[in-house]
Amino acid sequence: MSFGLVYALNVNEKDQKPAFVNSVVNQILQAGIIPAPANDDQTLIVSSANNAVNSADPLHAAINAAVFKRVEEKDGRLRRILVVSRGETLTARLVMAGISRTEILATLEALRPHINPRKIRDGQEVAVLFSRDGVNERYAGLELHDGFTVVTISRNPANTFEASLKTIAPEKRRFALRGVVQDNLYDSGVKLGVPSSVLSTIIKTYSYNIDFQRDVKEGDRFEVLYEQLSDADGHTSGDATLIYAALQVNGKIVPIYRVATSGNAYEYFDAKGESIRKGLLRTPVEGARITSGFGMRHHPIMGYNRMHKGIDFGVPTGTPIFAAGAGIIEEAERKSGYGLYIKIRHNGRISTAYAHMSRFGRGITRGTRITQGDVIGYAGSTGESTGPHLHYEVLVESSQVNPLNVDVPMGSALAGRQLASFQDWRNKVHTQFEQLVAAASDPARVAQNQTGSTTR
Ligand SMILES: [Zn+2]
Repeated sequence: MSFGLVYALNVNEKDQKPAFVNSVVNQILQAGIIPAPANDDQTLIVSSANNAVNSADPLHAAINAAVFKRVEEKDGRLRRILVVSRGETLTARLVMAGISRTEILATLEALRPHINPRKIRDGQEVAVLFSRDGVNERYAGLELHDGFTVVTISRNPANTFEASLKTIAPEKRRFALRGVVQDNLYDSGVKLGVPSSVLSTIIKTYSYNIDFQRDVKEGDRFEVLYEQLSDADGHTSGDATLIYAALQVNGKIVPIYRVATSGNAYEYFDAKGESIRKGLLRTPVEGARITSGFGMRHHPIMGYNRMHKGIDFGVPTGTPIFAAGAGIIEEAERKSGYGLYIKIRHNGRISTAYAHMSRFGRGITRGTRITQGDVIGYAGSTGESTGPHLHYEVLVESSQVNPLNVDVPMGSALAGRQLASFQDWRNKVHTQFEQLVAAASDPARVAQNQTGSTTR
């Protein structure tokens, strides 16, 4: 066998090399193509021909298996797909693939005016192109996406490399995914390929009704249908919009649907056509634990027993406080023992109050109209307080009630013709979801042209 140099590696340094280098070396040693060095100080030289390589050669196959994720064939050329991972460079991968230094330099030179090779980020897929002549493969260039621009570097007849750009008009496409909660919903979704913006929407929306820590367990199933700008190959860009999700909660499947309400506004509804945002937020601060409940207690500062008319959530100073529901700021002031205090009137009967804040949110003053989840201020320890916490009250007809016991229906519900068209649309969403999942060859994931699937 005649080879050019691909990579020289001192075997006792193996552990300090990137994982894919170890992987190549191990595959080669396991395949018995080159005997393992007799002692650790020997240098193992793995090599391959500079130009055409025989694809049937076991060494070549071992290298390809370690360097590339998959192989495709398109327009008479082989496309070996690699994924640049953290701490690696494209150059290092190309070297491993057996492509000569000269060819790599020429490729990067042609690429540089369009994409900075150093800026190729973690997880970026690069198609390395090979022309074929019988069993021989010859490096022909590479192709990568920069948003919706495809940059192709090709070997031309003069044996130099040049770039061509093609911009693909993206379209809104729908993606359907079905998964199982492993550790938590967010991480399981990310692993499946659900965009993080979609997962945030799911978690925020379900938070009105369920407690993720308690109600969602390992093994619970979930479904997601979302829309994102995408090209025909499934390369996506920009924010994604959640259309539908279903989550198994305590053994029951709980779906949510996005409904356009008026203008650009939208809301998520349940299967019956009722708004998900139906009550007050259970916890108006993130990451909180209840440090003092509603009821009689020994007052830590006053030293005698008195009624605690709210709930205390222990959170660090500066933790954002959310409006528990939509409404109008009725009070935003320093109020004796309450310290910095905000009261929101939600409707004719119900208000909520927030005390001991360190500061108010931007633009929050008396008369401001706010929506549920808006940041109205930040936790602190102003007024009569022993440490940073949020004191939270729910008032029904001006008297404090236990926030854990109140059920305050405040959201909208669809009725009449609106409800009928929602039900019709909801059924179509389910049909589309099932079709997309069924059509998927790659684990439950497929892109489908939205207009194609809804108008035909
Ligand atoms: Zn309190």
